Amino acid sequence: MKTNQDWIKEYPLIGELAAVKEVFWTNPKKEPFQKGVKKLPLNENDVKDAEERLMRFAPYIAEVFPETRQQEGIIESPIVSVPSMRQKLSEMYDHPLEGELLLKCDSHLPISGSIKARGGIYEVLKHAESLAIQHGLLSVEDDYSILDSEKFRDFYSEYSIAVGSTGNLGLSIGIMSAKLGFKVTVHMSADAKEWKKDLLKSKGVTVVEYKEDYSKAVEEGRKQADSDPNCYFIDDENSRDLFLGYAVAAFRLKKQLEELNITVDENHPLFVYLPCGVGGGPGGVAFGLKLIYQDHVHCFFAEPTHSPCMLLGLVTGLHDQVSVQDFGIDNITSADGLAVGRPSRFVGQTIEPLLSGSYTVSDHELFKLLSVLADTENIHLEPSALAGVIGPVKLAAEKQGKEYVQNHNLKDQMKNAVHLMWATGGSMVPKEIMDEYYKKGAELLF
Ligand SMILES: *Cc1c(COP(=O)(O)O)cnc(C)c1O
Repeated sequence: MKTNQDWIKEYPLIGELAAVKEVFWTNPKKEPFQKGVKKLPLNENDVKDAEERLMRFAPYIAEVFPETRQQEGIIESPIVSVPSMRQKLSEMYDHPLEGELLLKCDSHLPISGSIKARGGIYEVLKHAESLAIQHGLLSVEDDYSILDSEKFRDFYSEYSIAVGSTGNLGLSIGIMSAKLGFKVTVHMSADAKEWKKDLLKSKGVTVVEYKEDYSKAVEEGRKQADSDPNCYFIDDENSRDLFLGYAVAAFRLKKQLEELNITVDENHPLFVYLPCGVGGGPGGVAFGLKLIYQDHVHCFFAEPTHSPCMLLGLVTGLHDQVSVQDFGIDNITSADGLAVGRPSRFVGQTIEPLLSGSYTVSDHELFKLLSVLADTENIHLEPSALAGVIGPVKLAAEKQGKEYVQNHNLKDQMKNAVHLMWATGGSMVPKEIMDEYYKKGAELLF
């Protein structure tokens, strides 16, 4: 058994993590795509299958969530260019930025306003489909808008769904499950926001609150679900379905970039910055993107300095056998979607040969960026979602970032680069809370 001191001696970066400093790390285990892909437990057909399932459900989604009608029941978010933010970032951190900055606005995904509207909703739909097919009530050729009926709601009311969450996953699973007619219980960690709990209760969702963090909420949820054969537990720490639901984003992104006339190839690298909690969201998206763009896409994860669980799991290679608390880190952050102390092993192992690197950001920085983005682009995100926004600055300014560019022979291509910052949540935050966030950031800027 290695002591913390042994770990820090071997990997000085762990000492910096334990001191809750901001760090930038590049992944020594990253492999050329063609080599790395051989190690993966999932493939392109798995993502296609998920994409087709979401297509089958689109008529139902359009029926029950009118805000999705314009997109015909496809839950997707826009990509926007943020030139004023780019300018401001460059000034704030006193560093020139090459290439274009784009924001992927999952903050504005319909239904639940965060990246969880991808994986979370997908897994509920998949479960609903399997149940209905098993019982001879549905076939894949049907128009799924038939699910919007008393018959199906009665059927699903015999079943329950449970999930542990810091908030946003609970919103997605809760809203979708309740709409279909399931009984649904969301086990919420201590850091989950009051408004998220209230919103869920208003939709008929049972909310169980814990004084402990996310891992405890998941553990308890899993236990309760195990004791009921009609209860399906959505396991954020291990779910392949969640992961695939997130991965579909990449297939759709390809079309969106084409529509914007954006090329991704050896002369036009794509850098993607993904806020990371337990890992499923960013892991799924990164996996999908690597399948499409292979070595031309460079994926970085972003975590709060107080919850760097995935980075700790990757550096030590221990994945879910290590927690931030093991290194004296408190896992207390205002970035609620990211307040996770122990990463997913499944995601850590899957992403290991694909990931370019990872970095941490302090809460202060997240709040500042929140205010600045509101001022420059009039886009309002929740604190977690800002973790991706500082990515281009980190890559350009940090020593390891520069080395990464050099080692991948990308120096001359950086002027053609596209930096995609994944804005993972925000549109559901009540105005008075968003105003407080904004104020906090504005004060820190002075
Ligand atoms: C959940 C969440 C993430 C990260 O997703 P994980 O699957 O937990 O890694 C990022 N941002 C927001 C706003 C989230 O809710």
